[in-house]
Amino acid sequence: MGTKQFKAESKRLLDLMIHSIYTNKEIFLRELISNASDALDKLHYRSLTDKNISVDLSKLEIKIEIDKENREIIIKDNGCGMTEKELETNLGTIAKSGSLAFKEANEKKEDIDIIGQFGVGFYSAFMVSDKVTVESKSIDSEQAYKWESSGAEGYTVEPCDKKDVGTTITLHIKEDSEEEKYSEYLEDYEIQELIKKYSDYIRYPIKMDVTHKQKKEGTENEYEDVVETETINSMIPIWKREKSKVKKEEYNSFYTEKFNDFLPPLKVIHSSVEGQFSYNALLYIPSHLPYDYYAQDYEKGLQLYSNGVLIMNKCSDLLPDYFGFIKGLVDSPDLSLNISREMLQHDRQLKVIAKNIENKIKSELQNMLKNDRETYEKFFNTFGTQLKYGTYNNYGMDKDKLKDLLMFYSSTEKKLVTLGEYVSRMKENQNTIYYACGESIDKIDLLPQVDAVKDKGYEMLYLSASVDEFVIQVLQEYEGKKFANVCADNIDLETSEEKEELKKVNEKSKDMFDLMKEAISGEVDAIRYTHKLKNHPVCLTSEGALSIKMEKVINAMPNEEKVKAQTILEINENHPIVEKLKDLYKNNKEELKEYTKILYAQARLIEGLPIENPTEISNLVCKMIAKN
Ligand code: ADP
Repeated sequence: MGTKQFKAESKRLLDLMIHSIYTNKEIFLRELISNASDALDKLHYRSLTDKNISVDLSKLEIKIEIDKENREIIIKDNGCGMTEKELETNLGTIAKSGSLAFKEANEKKEDIDIIGQFGVGFYSAFMVSDKVTVESKSIDSEQAYKWESSGAEGYTVEPCDKKDVGTTITLHIKEDSEEEKYSEYLEDYEIQELIKKYSDYIRYPIKMDVTHKQKKEGTENEYEDVVETETINSMIPIWKREKSKVKKEEYNSFYTEKFNDFLPPLKVIHSSVEGQFSYNALLYIPSHLPYDYYAQDYEKGLQLYSNGVLIMNKCSDLLPDYFGFIKGLVDSPDLSLNISREMLQHDRQLKVIAKNIENKIKSELQNMLKNDRETYEKFFNTFGTQLKYGTYNNYGMDKDKLKDLLMFYSSTEKKLVTLGEYVSRMKENQNTIYYACGESIDKIDLLPQVDAVKDKGYEMLYLSASVDEFVIQVLQEYEGKKFANVCADNIDLETSEEKEELKKVNEKSKDMFDLMKEAISGEVDAIRYTHKLKNHPVCLTSEGALSIKMEKVINAMPNEEKVKAQTILEINENHPIVEKLKDLYKNNKEELKEYTKILYAQARLIEGLPIENPTEISNLVCKMIAKN
């Protein structure tokens, strides 16, 4: 029987385990029990979907035995078992799900962190054992097989005698060392404590033979040892326990273990609903974006249980897309065990539960926003983009549900604010919600039009994410207040007299503007004076629904047709350059055209737009420099 090598990555992990100085070695038991419980789940699940398999639910269990003399802990389950091939792939390679995250972390972190954070599964057995034997008989195989390994050198797999379907894992416990008293794990009470501490909620009985002292029959005070098999865990799943009785650490460790996260969640939502449809829901908002969130095959969804029995691992109908990052489970006694995926989609009860869950998440977020702003901002920085997408997706179908959860950076508050907050402090004469778009807050601050709005004392929202402006377009208004892009031409900051006056000066220079427009071959829809610029000579504004920023975003998308915003070149009427332009219009029309080209190029640069004729522009600038 040849020894086989572990995959390189597995070997590395195994090495870490064997030489680990991790102090929390006791988690090995939790990991092995959790695997056993999964195997029991799988067998049960198979029996629901495969008519040829019948399972006596009352017999499903995990049994733990200790053989002190031989320094062995034996963990037995009568779950689905593993075939020869499964033993190879499951135990010869580390689990695919965690491997990517593990690799990333491994580059940066110490082994201690990795073990603590990932709960490394089966291999954690090697923290306390110098030999691990797995005997398993699969529900799909007549023959049982034995996998055995003494560490990183490799492992063997060979046929063995095992009559019943299931898995038996035998750990040969390491000898005590100076630092570590491994023998502790060979004490009954120690193992019982560990089961209660980490695995109490496991749905299947975890049984042990417990020795009691009992009075010897017919004697006064003589005692004898009596061995009884007892169930150590309470078997009440965490989500069925009373909220006030569950400790934060319990919620958190349940989360990190069950949903393979290495960080505790940002928020736990635990709710029990009694009524037409009863259910328990245990939901978690992760503290970071799942690392595979933007991968093609990311599947949103909640685990679905029928009275404690898992019936679906990812029920996507339970979560709207914009809450797709939420992890957790729903358990309802009213759901049929045998319900198929297709039927579930049309299940009225499931729809009601989904609706309730959505509302629950929303109201929890609103509470967080009100009472724990710091956490909400953390949440929004991580998942805000999802809410924004949710707002504008499906033509804004869900915008009313989400608009109060949105936040944007404010010019006056210098932090994220909600639209409600903005509207509540609008100035008396203010009718619109001002915003400006750009790549970053710093860049937006450089926009010439921004000065005017700030000068007049208005609060302005910075829209620096690509999706922001689409969100505003879909919302159109908030509490009856329309949104106004400070870079749009219809921005209304002036009194009617001021407007009247501007109109007049513009009319006077109409011919000059026509000539200038011709010089940049109709690139803009109009040229005119403005009073909204303070220091800058020119700016570009847009007219109509499509803004300059949106033009940029849309044109950056692949396969989209190119679009063009309707733009206006605005010239600061109070800037010294105006005299020069008028003078040139009278005396040197050719030079006026050249100046116009430069001014237009400047305006585009300020907006972050490309210049189509950079050589020409740079030659013109040089010509001017040379002249003076
Ligand atoms: P994970 O549990 O995170 O997938 P593990 O390294 O703990 O990773 O286990 C690897 C795989 O081995 C499991 O996914 C499962 O398929 C299989 N396995 C482990 N223990 C058992 C068991 N007691 N019964 C059946 N299969 C098991």
